[in-house]
Amino acid sequence: LYNMVQDLKGNIRVYCRIRPSFTAEAKTVIDFIGEDGSLVILDPLKPHKDGRKVFQFNRMFGPTATQDVVFKDIQPLIRSVVDGYNVCIFAYGQTGSGKTHTMSGPSGGSTKDRGINFLALNYLFQMSDRRKDIINYDIHVQMVEIYNEQVRDLLAEDSSTTKLEIRSCTSDNGLSLPDATICSVKSTTDVLNLMKLGEVNRVVSSTAMNNRSSRSHSVLTVHVHGKDTSGGILRSSLHLVDLAGSERVDKSEVTGDRLKEAQYINKSLSCLGDVIMALAQKNTHIPYRNSKLTLLLQDSLGGHAKTLMFAHVSPEEDSFGETVTTLKFAQRVSTV
Ligand code: ADP
Ligand code: MG
Repeated sequence: LYNMVQDLKGNIRVYCRIRPSFTAEAKTVIDFIGEDGSLVILDPLKPHKDGRKVFQFNRMFGPTATQDVVFKDIQPLIRSVVDGYNVCIFAYGQTGSGKTHTMSGPSGGSTKDRGINFLALNYLFQMSDRRKDIINYDIHVQMVEIYNEQVRDLLAEDSSTTKLEIRSCTSDNGLSLPDATICSVKSTTDVLNLMKLGEVNRVVSSTAMNNRSSRSHSVLTVHVHGKDTSGGILRSSLHLVDLAGSERVDKSEVTGDRLKEAQYINKSLSCLGDVIMALAQKNTHIPYRNSKLTLLLQDSLGGHAKTLMFAHVSPEEDSFGETVTTLKFAQRVSTV
């Protein structure tokens, strides 16, 4: 039934999450958060009626929403993965708005507040256990980062050397990254160990490249393979994506590598927007090939796949400009 309801509503959904303010004194731009997914923000420079901006999403999560509350809402989407649907979940927003918190949880491997990546895998294990008498599931993961339009394996022993090629999804084993390390996972302990390795590999590069983690997209791909008692095969994948920061970089202030990074990020985020828009408008040509990110996620964008975008917002007044840009982008995606 869930899948039917979902199909009726369309396969692209947009949720918005607002992180808590860092200090209690900080003034916020949030005026109202509605149960129905509406959001009203106030322009700090026009604090009257003129400064009110109203947005509408499929769901709103305010600063007090816990990781568990957020996960409860996407649980049916994760369940559809074991039913054979491809699913893609993105975290979008400016640096510091809470993308990594939502996807991975707080850094440092705290057991509290674990994010969607962990909770989704944990739930997939539960589902596979519950169905073990009728279907035998195998779960594998890959983890890569896309930086300046180059794909890097985050689970490789020496992750710094290899640059990966993306194949079209029709390759023999159905993998779009056939050369990326692929690891079988059977328990949440396996998952935690791999996530730790991925995090270490990401950090190694960030010291060299100056906080590179917010300048790259990280993609955790979960491959689910199921075989039922009569030999029927089911294959699906779940992409969990922590996108690069969406903030606009002032071209007059940056040069060299920093400018190049910013241009690559702008390009891939706008390609992502174009693909989602083209899908929603049911265009015949979907421009997947315009960026590495959309090419990699092709099998989980469009067709019968389900897409969820989390638009992340920082509540502070000094983020107002970026907040409006993020919300407008998200609104455009959700209303087409
Ligand atoms: P991003 O990945 O978008 O750059 P982070 O996830 O790193 O942002 O969040 C920035 C900071 O805010 C981190 O210290 C993070 O732990 C904290 N934070 C973000 N969202 C929440 C939240 N919902 N609840 C509590 N702390 C949060
Ligand atoms: Mg982050």
